[in-house]
Amino acid sequence: MRPYIRDKKTFTFDEVPENTSFEAGYLVSVNSGWRSVRPVIDTGKCIGCEQCYLYCPDGVISIEAGKAAIDYDFCKGCGICAKICRLHAITIEEERK
Ligand code: SF4
Ligand code: SF4
Repeated sequence: MRPYIRDKKTFTFDEVPENTSFEAGYLVSVNSGWRSVRPVIDTGKCIGCEQCYLYCPDGVISIEAGKAAIDYDFCKGCGICAKICRLHAITIEEERK
């Protein structure tokens, strides 16, 4: 069983709780229709550090071939991933209709 974050100050990587829905398909329906902005990853800057993956509240970021990738069907556009990326590899852009 994985520990709660509030109970520990340091972690090994294996102890970090998994995201809410890392595997696509756990969410039952596309819920991004109301999003007004979207995060866009600059793969030239991304080093695959997984910080955005760990902080995304919807669990829609995965690491593919060493780079972050976003499932836009379920991303709600909250912008947390852009805030947390120290390399500024994620920018928030206006949603394209
Ligand atoms: S936090 Fe930034 S550098 Fe790290 S994986 Fe996400 S986009 Fe890439
Ligand atoms: S904008 Fe929010 S929901 Fe979308 S990928 Fe970033 S942290 Fe996750």
